Amino acid sequence: MKAKTGLILTINCGSSSIKYKLFSFPSEKVITKGVIEHIGEAGAGVKDHHEGLKKVLDEILGSGISKDEISAIGHRVVHGGEEFIEPVLISAEVVRKIKELSKLAPLHNPANLEGIIACEKILKGVPQVAVFDTAFHSSIPEYAYIYALPYEYYQNYGVRRYGFHGTSHWYVCLSAAKKLKKSPSKVNLITCHLGNGCSVTAIKEGRSVDTSMGFTPLEGLVMGTRCGDIDPALVLYLQGQLKVSADQLGKIMNKESGLKGISGVSNDFRELIEARAKNNKRAALAIEIFKYRLLKYIGAYCLVLGKVDAIVFTGGIGENVKEIRDYVGQRLKRLLKNPPKIMVIPTDEELMIAKRTMKLLKRISKRGQ
Ligand code: ADP
Repeated sequence: MKAKTGLILTINCGSSSIKYKLFSFPSEKVITKGVIEHIGEAGAGVKDHHEGLKKVLDEILGSGISKDEISAIGHRVVHGGEEFIEPVLISAEVVRKIKELSKLAPLHNPANLEGIIACEKILKGVPQVAVFDTAFHSSIPEYAYIYALPYEYYQNYGVRRYGFHGTSHWYVCLSAAKKLKKSPSKVNLITCHLGNGCSVTAIKEGRSVDTSMGFTPLEGLVMGTRCGDIDPALVLYLQGQLKVSADQLGKIMNKESGLKGISGVSNDFRELIEARAKNNKRAALAIEIFKYRLLKYIGAYCLVLGKVDAIVFTGGIGENVKEIRDYVGQRLKRLLKNPPKIMVIPTDEELMIAKRTMKLLKRISKRGQ
């Protein structure tokens, strides 16, 4: 197995999309990248993930790269449960376990698995590695991950906070530490991943100690189309009022809420800023609520951490919307003599997946020697 040099292909399969990037190691240079969207949709031309990945591979192999040059494939897998707290080499047993974990992440893990199964067929013999979104949060202490429900639900049904976006939070944590010229084990950070999905993480000495997403990615901040925190009794009330099934209500909370639900305009932050400039009151309200909820989490995590070196913003909204960073920065300045630095660090989940994949390959090849 080639380990120190070679190409690593990263695959991120969503329910209707495949994002891929091919990295060369050790330079970490991106050789090629792309996205296939609208998989399975009428008139899209790509009927499933297998067909999509075939297209990806045709493109890569067509550009003069041979299959043998690909050292491994690193897959983003959303839910690793309590079992997968490190990247793993994919085997039949691992596939079985990821499938089992689909009951905890029914919107994500099945799509991730389709990518894995398709790659196994198309790139037979190339090692495949799963890198889990939940893994970085495995250091969260029990008092922060147990919900105040009967304790048996944790034991019997896996009900607990898992947290997501872990690869992104970890990537920006490592980058921030480098910029602060400190070892990651010496930094306390609050990392805000604000994209379509949004989450904020409290990082103590380089390890996640709390995060806003919970049992599912629905908890926490206001997001593009997800409601984030609500009174849980609302679920019961709305089921009665709307006469909808649990599934339908789940869709409403995941797809019709958040910025889109409040504003009635869009889930896209740029469009909300435009609408607000034209005096659209609900677009303005959506932005206000988004900022306020974030502020509350940051306030709480400041006390959780005690000392905070920096607040790091990433994701499309985090990187581009200065207004949000200023809003947080001004509040902190009013409260603290030495407020944390505000940093913007573009995330690179794919690079992190590729690096983790390469690291695992090296470990395996060392063990084999
Ligand atoms: P994903 O989570 O799908 O990777 P992104 O990180 O690309 O999403 O973030 C998407 C969000 O970022 C959208 O709400 C989009 O409007 C917002 N966004 C991207 N660029 C800008 C910008 N220049 N100004 C304001 N918002 C932006």
